[in-house]
Amino acid sequence: MSQLGDNKQIVDLGKKVVMNTYGRLPMALVRGAGARVWDANGREYLDFLGGLAVNSLGHCHPKVVAAIQGQAEKLLHVSNLYWIAPQVELAQVLVENSFADKVFFCNSGAEANEGAIKLTRKYAKKTWGPEKYEILTMEHSFHGRTLATVTATGQTKYQQDLEPLPPGFRYAPFGDLTALENAIGPHTCAVMIEPVQGEGGVNFAEPEFWTGLGKLAQERNLLLIFDEVQCGLGRTGKLFAHEHYGVTPQIMTLAKALGGGVPIGALLATDQVAAAFGPGDHASTFGGNPLVTAAGLAVMDVLLNNGLLGRCQEIGAYFLGHLRRLAAKHQMITQVRGLGLMLACELDRDGAPVVAACLEKGLIINCTAGKVLRFVPPLIISREDVDQAVAVLDDVLTGVAVGT
Ligand SMILES: *Cc1c(COP(=O)(O)O)cnc(C)c1O
Repeated sequence: MSQLGDNKQIVDLGKKVVMNTYGRLPMALVRGAGARVWDANGREYLDFLGGLAVNSLGHCHPKVVAAIQGQAEKLLHVSNLYWIAPQVELAQVLVENSFADKVFFCNSGAEANEGAIKLTRKYAKKTWGPEKYEILTMEHSFHGRTLATVTATGQTKYQQDLEPLPPGFRYAPFGDLTALENAIGPHTCAVMIEPVQGEGGVNFAEPEFWTGLGKLAQERNLLLIFDEVQCGLGRTGKLFAHEHYGVTPQIMTLAKALGGGVPIGALLATDQVAAAFGPGDHASTFGGNPLVTAAGLAVMDVLLNNGLLGRCQEIGAYFLGHLRRLAAKHQMITQVRGLGLMLACELDRDGAPVVAACLEKGLIINCTAGKVLRFVPPLIISREDVDQAVAVLDDVLTGVAVGT
């Protein structure tokens, strides 16, 4: 147990001994239940960020807690030299509910994407020859922070001073099919793309773009890699966001919501593509260990068998309606967009002061891409929770407008 007491003690010590890689708010959250969390000073917050789209079932969902407790008493870790029962079961659930035939488990979104890049290169070389290795990714995308995935990420701010970056990536604007087609070169073998861009600003592409992308991929022999690390697993009101667009990839990555808060990532692929990996080609010591896959099984059970997807669509539409009303009232909101419970308000100014002011009033939200307020609350929120959040936002935007 932590010996540290209040926010100040934790923040002060943290600044001394933890590497300074995050712009953190000066507080420590120590307890959570459903859509609410409490800081070390005992203050309550409504959580409309959900640990960055991780806590889709809310904090400490009883079924996830019970699965973790039960597994912790039985077996935590054995390595992938053996078959792991909950890992096999979780793979089966993912296969049964997606296009995929095979799953590889790892520990994060970046690792899942790293695995996707390796699998793509192996498959492309074996299938089309050694000159096929280049992966097209999108501007404003986000795929992780390892050297390969930060290179796949189409935002130079994350690549600063990390050069030399690994070769084999090329970028195209998100949602522009002609530009994407023009970016295809002699070495291109795949397109890696988020069905809804998360970190890059909650960006959507038109349905025609997706239909066109599916056709183009077929015509030009390109693998499709869908990064559903953030938008997948019910976030948009369907189990996978690409189901909205009727285009199916050969490879898909998952992470954030899959473990209900424990670190787990997954790389999914069709049999044909997955066959490019053989024993020894890829591995992870912790990947798919009994603890995290037991948690993942509980998450999938709740997600699939409690009407949560329908609820997410309904409450998401309710929230979107409220945000549109806010946009009509507050000129500083330039656009509102969203699908399910992956929503955003784009502002005409920096969003950080709005986030800070919401926190002051007990609402946790987040700002991404500078001006975009991002809402990725737990899928279990109620209409009352939405009403409360919108009232705070309304207040805060009014205050920001008059400069208080
Ligand atoms: C968060 C995120 C990642 C990276 O996941 P980590 O677990 O932080 O490595 C990759 N892709 C998308 C779309 C994400 O939102």
